[in-house]
Amino acid sequence: MDFFKLSNAGNAQEYFGVNWALTTKCNYRCSYCHPDLYNGKIKTAEFEVITQFVDKVFDYCGKKELKPFFEFAGGEVTYLKWFGDLLDYISQRGGLVAIISNASSSLEWWNNHIHSLHGACLSFHVEGVKSVEHFIQVAKIAEQCRTTNLHVNVMMPPERFDECLKFAEELRSRVETTIALQPLYHGFGGAGITGKYAYTVEQEEIMKTFRGRFSNKALPEPRGAVAITMDSGEVLIKSTFDLLVEEKTNFVGWECHAGLENIVVTFKGDIYRAWCMQDGPIGTIFDLELELPSAPVICRTKICQCGPDISSRKMKRNIPQLVAV
Ligand code: SF4
Ligand code: SF4
Repeated sequence: MDFFKLSNAGNAQEYFGVNWALTTKCNYRCSYCHPDLYNGKIKTAEFEVITQFVDKVFDYCGKKELKPFFEFAGGEVTYLKWFGDLLDYISQRGGLVAIISNASSSLEWWNNHIHSLHGACLSFHVEGVKSVEHFIQVAKIAEQCRTTNLHVNVMMPPERFDECLKFAEELRSRVETTIALQPLYHGFGGAGITGKYAYTVEQEEIMKTFRGRFSNKALPEPRGAVAITMDSGEVLIKSTFDLLVEEKTNFVGWECHAGLENIVVTFKGDIYRAWCMQDGPIGTIFDLELELPSAPVICRTKICQCGPDISSRKMKRNIPQLVAV
């Protein structure tokens, strides 16, 4: 690693992040996805329980003079019948909400709820998508909403690489959006990532260098942009995706602030500091009180593998027995 400190960029210090896996139901069945992300076996908590926990997060943030930033993912969250009400509830209380979605819900759904969304992260799954044009129209709705950040992840199965690349190029020409070509990993959504799908050198290079278009919306950026302090002292602003593709996400031995500036919530309602789940759960959404850690952890997990985890502040420490893990 050629840097020793990872700090928040953007407005992250003003926000408390809650990354919430809300539903295990999905209308797609992607071959690279673990069935637990779409088979609906784990039931989502009742709407009242969800909003009570949202209230606790607002109370917690009020004491710390932070604003809540909720990120919801699934499964496919837009098909939960009360999901639009949840978005409106949070945004009317002054929190920010972002979602990850496969964009398959109707244009009517998107037109009705886009104004409650601070972030729309749309995932293009070539195996499931029924209409490329529908996906582009949803992206256009998010593009045209001046209060919504839009990002598109194009999942890249190696055997359909060219088709996905062609789609990404068309999207870039028609919609002002950042785009990431996402390599696939074995074990996605299960107990842990076990390795990347096989790509040619040329495909790897295309995924590393392809970018979309930045918009000029100038919205708050609560998570995702990080400032890294290089060993030379130089400070660079990067996205968590940059660090992932550069394979600079091994923070073993580093002090990590996950749990202090953000939490994650599982499908079952368990709360952890981060998706690495290091050191076990720290509560549930059903608890009467929301009590969260007050001290950072020392990382013992070899790969910090997703954006919400990487976004937490980290500082290198010299602990040889941990670095050797
Ligand atoms: S990868 Fe996403 S869209 Fe595909 S089945 Fe899994 S949850 Fe659904
Ligand atoms: S793997 Fe977990 S503990 Fe380690 S840096 Fe990432 S979030 Fe922090």
